[in-house]
Amino acid sequence: MMQDQFGRQIEYLRISVTDRCNLRCTYCMPEEGLDWIPKPEMLSYEEIAEIVAQMSELGLSRVRLTGGEPLIRRDLAELVELIAAVPGIEDISLSTNAILLPRFADDLKRAGVDRVNISLDTLDRERFEEIARRPVDRFDETMTGIESAEAAGFEPIKVNCVVMRGLNDHEVVDFAEITRERPWHVRFIELMPVGRNLHLNDRFISADEVLGRIRAIDDLAPDDGPQGNGPAVYYRFPGGRGTVGVITPLSHNYCERCNRMRLTADGKLRTCLFGDHEIDLKGPLRETGRIEDAVAEALAGKPKRHYLELGTAEGSGGLAALSQVGG
Ligand code: SAM
Ligand code: SF4
Repeated sequence: MMQDQFGRQIEYLRISVTDRCNLRCTYCMPEEGLDWIPKPEMLSYEEIAEIVAQMSELGLSRVRLTGGEPLIRRDLAELVELIAAVPGIEDISLSTNAILLPRFADDLKRAGVDRVNISLDTLDRERFEEIARRPVDRFDETMTGIESAEAAGFEPIKVNCVVMRGLNDHEVVDFAEITRERPWHVRFIELMPVGRNLHLNDRFISADEVLGRIRAIDDLAPDDGPQGNGPAVYYRFPGGRGTVGVITPLSHNYCERCNRMRLTADGKLRTCLFGDHEIDLKGPLRETGRIEDAVAEALAGKPKRHYLELGTAEGSGGLAALSQVGG
């Protein structure tokens, strides 16, 4: 069992397979991109699977593939197959912007992906261009991608929407309305301030305010929501097929329930999304073939909590953009 110094059991690993992306979501990545991890520095699929295998011996049971945009890394289904073959791994999920799902959804399902989370911040084509800073065609591809996910049989479908005042906050009711007819789980995420998006701080809007706007149109009853590993809290409209969820890293800190670590594309095990505490796994893996000691060191240093609510670069532990770690 992997347990940290505060008694939290860690059974979930979020693996970033690339730090690159085909979008430039305003809150996530600067328009000009970032200093990408050089390709030779990146873990191979075999190395990622070996890390998962060794961590599963220590108690890891769930894995999420993320990025950057994970689907831009070539032949991702091959990695999924390798991970699905690891004894003890019960659940493989994927976070994606859905653009490439029409091409890959069936292969990924066959390879062993159980569930997908899809980022969608607006239902409006023109606004997509403003938020994701890529042509509107990408919006159409995203929507087709969501249909592909449904057609491929992914269940549940979680849709993640980062709410920003003055940009997309007037759409929260429209997003919530979708859950009456479709079995989607729409999760509103509080905007997290990191080094490269601090200029957006005044666009922050709390989950309580979002829920208040939705409750103004109809009742929302607390709900268990879909199966998952995360901190979302769920609600449902009367008779709704899907649910409305909120993820509240700023307004309601959930660090005490943290069950996860993160693996960067270049092989660093990060113990907190926002801390600067990370332990290199690639070195020990390539030199000795074993990573248990490095994992133990990481667990011992996992910080108690983040200080995101400060809204400063220090509060987010020096992280420039979530795309570097996978969110
Ligand atoms: N490209 C994939 C996607 O967009 O789903 C996976 C990587 S993305 C970094 C993972 C999640 O982090 C997405 O749901 C995205 O909306 C969220 N995210 C990125 N930056 C964020 C921020 N500053 N505040 C809140 N959520 C953020
Ligand atoms: Fe890319 Fe996802 Fe970040 Fe948007 S949120 S820029 S899709 S990594």
